[in-house]
Amino acid sequence: MAFRTEEKELVCAVCGESSVQTVVAEFDPDTSVPDLDMRPDEPHRSYTKYWVMECPHCGYCNASIDIPAEFTKEYPMSDRYRKPGDDLAGRFMKMSLSCEKNKVYNEAVKAALYAAWVCDDRGDEEKAAECRRAALKVYDTHKAALSEDQNIVLLAADLMRRSGDHDRVIREYRGKYFPSALYRLIAAYEVGLAVKGDSSCHKADEIPGVEIR
Ligand SMILES: [Zn+2]
Repeated sequence: MAFRTEEKELVCAVCGESSVQTVVAEFDPDTSVPDLDMRPDEPHRSYTKYWVMECPHCGYCNASIDIPAEFTKEYPMSDRYRKPGDDLAGRFMKMSLSCEKNKVYNEAVKAALYAAWVCDDRGDEEKAAECRRAALKVYDTHKAALSEDQNIVLLAADLMRRSGDHDRVIREYRGKYFPSALYRLIAAYEVGLAVKGDSSCHKADEIPGVEIR
């Protein structure tokens, strides 16, 4: 058992209505080798679908619907919010909108990335690139706040490369300094892939000198 889920009644922080949601109650440590964008491998990959909840009453999506929000229920009920749809990728995109509105910009970037993963699994390359570009839009819009977060700055390189903007990866990451030696190695690897015009998924342990258990 890599993880265990349970049903839990939660009260929506936006509309105040309660609903039964599936939560990951416990999980074993993840020792798998992640992709360059930190996507876990199986068996942990299977529980990423539980990283988003949706309130069935107002449509609020977030990692948990009891996370307080800086907006009223009119926002999740708006056409703009509902546009991404109700499937898993759509719920992650709506979670991204919630996080951005809540000014939790790193989570807003990551939620759009999770939507891209769902599209990757479906083989929908166009939609996956669209989700990655949405993640980059959050990154660019809130760059002042996000440039302090090295994880997000490094992740942005993968978002650019996977959505086909190889020139930008080369421009912004060639020789870029990261305090972490591991991050410098990963950034250099991203640049090398971008130079080759490679937009595909790669694993972190392919990089010479990087050992991840
Ligand atoms: Zn609600």
